[in-house]
Order: sequence, then structure tokens, then C-alpha cells
Amino acid sequence: MPKLPENGSVLPITRWGEDVMHRLNRPVTDFGDDLHKLVADMVATMRAAEGVGLAANQVGVDLQVFVFDCPDKDGQYHQGVVCNPSLDLPEGKDRRLDEGDEGCLSLPGAFTKCARPDFAKVTGVDEHGNPVTYEGTGLLARCLQHETDHTQGMVFGDRLSRKYRKRLYAEAEEFAPDYPTDWPVSPMNNPEDHENEPPAE
Ligand SMILES: [Zn+2]
Repeated sequence: MPKLPENGSVLPITRWGEDVMHRLNRPVTDFGDDLHKLVADMVATMRAAEGVGLAANQVGVDLQVFVFDCPDKDGQYHQGVVCNPSLDLPEGKDRRLDEGDEGCLSLPGAFTKCARPDFAKVTGVDEHGNPVTYEGTGLLARCLQHETDHTQGMVFGDRLSRKYRKRLYAEAEEFAPDYPTDWPVSPMNNPEDHENEPPAE
């Protein structure tokens, strides 16, 4: 299992509504020190926010890269860095939808059911430009899809019906005071109110 870099700095998380969250991000072409620092900072930010995945545009950077540290259906954790991800989803009779809860670190405090295939495979390259493939079930399948969506400028609200999207935004608004604008650089308020939430990504 590849080790994630652990020497990064925590950055503020960019929210839905910022332009960089809603357009196709640029492919990674330079695998030098700047990218390595970005990836380390993304890992630190994901951990500070107690998330299971984080894409570069969630720290305001217009690049197709995400990090994850996420359990599969059997509770086993998988971690990795994926630049320029390409998603492979089951089709036909192999395609089964998982109706689990989904939440996004860029819309903190709000969760809703979001149907997605229960298995996903992603291919790309790591922060050194070496080919990588990750696949999995459960929350990991959801996370690989959610993060690849981010690199394409899509958020999971885009996948919901109007009714569920409205409800999601109302919930986010309710909890907005708990998340300072530079969260997770500044900690959240009233953490005890969020203890039972599923992990966000
Ligand atoms: Zn997200």
C-alpha cells in the first residue's frame, strides 16, 4: 500500500459556488516539487477535516488530482494519490446501485442519499507520474467516483433531483455557522453536533 505524504500544511477548504469547483480542471503535466507539496498539503487538509478523500480544487487549485484514505465495504482502508483520473464503472447486469449517504467537505455538514454504482475502478498516475489503478466497493467505490467528479468540475449536488438538492442546501445552511470560512485551518464549532455523521469527501 503506498504511503501518503504526511508533512503538509492544512489549507482552507474551497466551497461549492467557487468557480474552480464547477469547471473541468487542468490535467497534471508537471510532476515536480510544486505537485508534491500540493499533494502533501491535500493529505494534511483531508486529515484535519476528517474526510476520506479530497480533490485539488477543494483547496482552490485547478488541477486534476485527488488523494484518498477510505474504507471499502469490508472496513479495509485504501489510500492513494491519483492524477488525471479515468473512471471505469460496471455496466449491464454487473451494475448495481448503492443508495448510501454522501457528503462533501466543500458543503460541510450536509448529507443525503446518492445512488452510485457499488463498485468503481480508477486509473491514472501518482504524483511521480507512475501509473496507478485503484478499485473497490462500499464507501471506497463512492469516494473514487466523488473525487473523479470533482476533477471534472462536478459536485454530487449535480447528481441529485431538485427536491433532494434543495433539502441538501437547506441542511448545509443550517450548519454553516459551525464551519469557519477557513475551516479546517480554524476548527469547527460545536463538534459534538457532528459526531454521528458519515465521513465526507
Ligand atoms: Zn467533495
